[in-house]
Amino acid sequence: MKSNMARLNNGMTIPIIGMGTFSFENDYHITHNAVQMALKLGYNHFDTAQVYGSEPALGAALRDSISRGAVERESLFVTSKLWGSHHHDPVSALKRTLMNLGMEYVDMYLVHWPVRMKPWVSTPYAKEDEFENLDMETTWAGMERCLEMGLCRGIGTSNFSCKKIESLLDHASVVPAVNQVEMHPMWKQKKLRNYCKDHDIHVSAYSPIGGPGNFWGSTAVVESPVIRSIAQKHKATPAQVALRWGMSKGSSVIVKSFNEDRLKENIGALSLKLDNKDVNEIERMEEWKIMRGEVYVNQTTSPYKTIEELWDDEI
Ligand code: NAP
Repeated sequence: MKSNMARLNNGMTIPIIGMGTFSFENDYHITHNAVQMALKLGYNHFDTAQVYGSEPALGAALRDSISRGAVERESLFVTSKLWGSHHHDPVSALKRTLMNLGMEYVDMYLVHWPVRMKPWVSTPYAKEDEFENLDMETTWAGMERCLEMGLCRGIGTSNFSCKKIESLLDHASVVPAVNQVEMHPMWKQKKLRNYCKDHDIHVSAYSPIGGPGNFWGSTAVVESPVIRSIAQKHKATPAQVALRWGMSKGSSVIVKSFNEDRLKENIGALSLKLDNKDVNEIERMEEWKIMRGEVYVNQTTSPYKTIEELWDDEI
């Protein structure tokens, strides 16, 4: 197996750096252009979700490159996600995703959040009365059906705590291959990584540099004096240090940039080596979660009345 790939519990391999495609503007041409730049720079792993609105641009950019013979479909790893309003019918949701992408299958299909919403909700935020009780047994059976039908090569979860994975495993016939969660030097996910390791579930890191340019993100990771001094020592950048740290924990890192220089910088993390001293210094950094999921918590229809309930106190 190549050193820039990780093995999944279903025999697949996943490239350890992936390009995220969520941007608030969701501009078709900007996304399309960015994906084409990324392909030229050697990215072969792309992360999208139905709710991001980036599936059509991502799919078109990948298909253009495939039809020009620049890349083969088999060498790409494409992840998309089931939105909360489609928990009642993952098969139809994935078929819509495939139509958006113009593809026959995705490599990985994830349950985006352990949150179920009314079928008409199409935005990242639901209104207070638009939540439904989570019924993961039905949702996961639908995900397994997607796999049986060949609509995806693997299935997994996102934003699931250890406890939520544990209850999923009580009834799952297929163990999730991936759990995609927030993970960076200031939110290390030690407990979840250990739990997932014991169950052979790959942890994929989103916001791996803390989302510095996002309105919900933070510059705390890339501006941390610890990260900056490690970067200086290796003649690298803070983003590269954060990304390499994630990979050094066995995770794949999903980093978003639509800027050519930063795309290049980020994939450059593959050739950085951190030593034990660096890793120990990062180990001691303070932690705080950036993506807390407040929007999925309310006192009326959400099954989660507090942030702690959403994350099962793993926060
Ligand atoms: P991120 O990748 O840590 O940060 C992205 C932000 O940092 C962008 O604003 C980007 O702006 C900027 N940036 C990128 N490279 C940089 C660098 N080298 N130096 C300084 N700034 C840099 O966080 P994210 O966007 O939150 O997450 C990445 C991807 O993970 C998303 O696109 C999405 O695919 C996925 N995700 C999944 C979930 C989930 O619930 N499963 C949640 C959040 C995110 P420019 O584009 O201008 O470079």
